Amino acid sequence: MKAPAKSSGSSSPAVSTPAPSAAADPGRKPGEGEGFDFFSLLAEHEHEQVSAYYDPSTGYRGLIAIHSTVLGPALGGTRFWNYQSDRDALIDALRLARGMTYKAAVAGLNLGGGKGVIIGDNRTTRREALFRAHGRHVESLKGRYITAEDVGTSTADMEYIKAETNHVTGLIGRSGDPSPVTAFGVYRGIKACVRYRSGSDSLSGKAVALQGCGSVGYHLAKLLHAEGASITCTDIDPQRVKRVVEDSAAKAVAPDAIYDVRASIFAPCALGAVINDDTVQRLQVEIVAGAANNQLAEDRHGDLLEQRGITYAPDYVINGGGLINVNAELHGWAPERARSKAGEIYDTLLRVFEIAREEGCPSYRAADRLAEQRIAAIAKVRRNFV
Ligand code: NAD
Repeated sequence: MKAPAKSSGSSSPAVSTPAPSAAADPGRKPGEGEGFDFFSLLAEHEHEQVSAYYDPSTGYRGLIAIHSTVLGPALGGTRFWNYQSDRDALIDALRLARGMTYKAAVAGLNLGGGKGVIIGDNRTTRREALFRAHGRHVESLKGRYITAEDVGTSTADMEYIKAETNHVTGLIGRSGDPSPVTAFGVYRGIKACVRYRSGSDSLSGKAVALQGCGSVGYHLAKLLHAEGASITCTDIDPQRVKRVVEDSAAKAVAPDAIYDVRASIFAPCALGAVINDDTVQRLQVEIVAGAANNQLAEDRHGDLLEQRGITYAPDYVINGGGLINVNAELHGWAPERARSKAGEIYDTLLRVFEIAREEGCPSYRAADRLAEQRIAAIAKVRRNFV
């Protein structure tokens, strides 16, 4: 996918750097002949724009990466992290922003992909001025980027940002905890996987191995139990396990034992990179479908699942309910509408599996194709001046 280069038109102190297109700069490849490979990174990650903003009074150092605005304003949380280098921060922002484009595209939302990073110690107590500086940075992009919470930031931080810009979501008392909507989307996604495998989407009598009994895991277990599935669960927090055992009649196992449970479905709802060289061989399931982000340690683990005949629900497709909830806040949707939209993950996954079959590729690649198809189709429709 090629995102068009655009300028922010900002008159703020932000340094906005629209990515050059190959056609605009035929003599030299981006980054070539320079010590710093900034534009190579933008080109490699196919970004429209990266904005850097420095505020000496607070020590604020922030980057905002805008991967694509073809479908709508770029949305993505702000991560506050003590990166080893500015380059590491930039790469993280680029990678995460791109992921947001794909997630929004397959969820059928009119949002693009972006991500903010603030470089520094996220335990700082001097937050107001820092986050207001970030809010000014967001405002300088005039709505091309909308921010939200992420690792190292909280709803209280979003309130500081709100003092400087309206382009922020996840505010106190607004859309609230997204995990029930995410869990509902995962539940519908699991049903789609079961239908794809067996022709029926009933979960009655199906065994599910649930990793992580946190916010999403807890709600997911209740939905599965209500439909007659039997659950084996684990968590590193015994209190969280207890809740799922009591409320969803689950059986508990030790954290590492979850990979060896014989079941129909493995539902990872805790950490990333849980499908790796060790676990991919151990799994005794037909389906991997859960809420965790970045479940595949590397892409090749998606290929290995495929080779083992295990159906994999691409993580960013099945866990799109969280983003759908944020979108609901942006557009003032009623909770039922957000839930119904998350329910559409069922059809989206079936379409992903169909593309995988048609094109003879693993499901994680088919999901990318689905996202790219939608972005390309909408880009064509919107190319004329109206
Ligand atoms: P959470 O923090 O409430 O729950 C995660 C649980 O995993 C915790 O109970 C934790 O103790 C447990 N855990 C950590 N390490 C573990 C291990 N080694 N083995 C077993 N359990 C372990 O988080 P959540 O909101 O329920 O989200 C779960 C996952 O889904 C995360 O990866 C998150 O990024 C992803 N996700 C969540 C949402 C959402 O709406 N909350 C949306 C999209 C994606």
